[in-house]
Parts: sequence; C-alpha cells; structure tokens
Amino acid sequence: MGGIVYWGLIRTAIMIVILWLSYEYFEEKFFWIIASIAIYLIIIQPIISQYKEFIRKNRNVINNSLCSQCKHFDETAVLCMKYDQHPTDEITPCDGIDWEPI
Ligand code: SF4
Repeated sequence: MGGIVYWGLIRTAIMIVILWLSYEYFEEKFFWIIASIAIYLIIIQPIISQYKEFIRKNRNVINNSLCSQCKHFDETAVLCMKYDQHPTDEITPCDGIDWEPI
C-alpha cells in the first residue's frame, strides 16, 4: 500500500512540473482539458489499477486467514500492527501465538 502512495506522489510531482512547463504551449481552455486527461491517465488510473491488484493479491489474507480474525490486523493496509509486518498466505508473523479475537 505504501508503494501505491509513494509512486502516486512521485507521478503527481512529475506531472505538476510537466504541466507547469507546458502551460504556455496550449491555449488556456485546451490546457485544462489536456491537464484533466493527463491527471486521470497518469495519476488516477494507475492508482486505481494498483489498488485493485493489491486487493486481488491479498484477498485471501483479508478474508480467510487467522490474522483476518485478529484485533491486531489492519485490513486496509493488510498489516499486523503488533509486529508491523504484512501477513501473507504462507507467513503469519506471530505464528498464531499473539492472536486475539476481534
Ligand atoms: S498478532 Fe498474530 S494473528 Fe494477530 S494480526 Fe498479528 S500476526 Fe496476525
């Protein structure tokens, strides 16, 4: 999840510079149309795609794992907050020892 935010911020910073430098090449009414399309295609769409891929890859951990029933599990980040690690299908950071029901 952090990678999605990080690359989203990097793309946003690059996009701001590119749009700022290209502003004088377009008439104002076309600039905002081009800027809107560029922001959607370069910033928003990749974030949506990466988030869907993140959810798809972690669907089993979120819905059917030991961690999914634990009070230390943060579902939105797929993170064990007690160990500050990401559980996977193969790895439960505490090996079940610190599991506590929600
Ligand atoms: S404490 Fe253990 S069971 Fe609970 S979320 Fe962390 S790793 Fe999973």
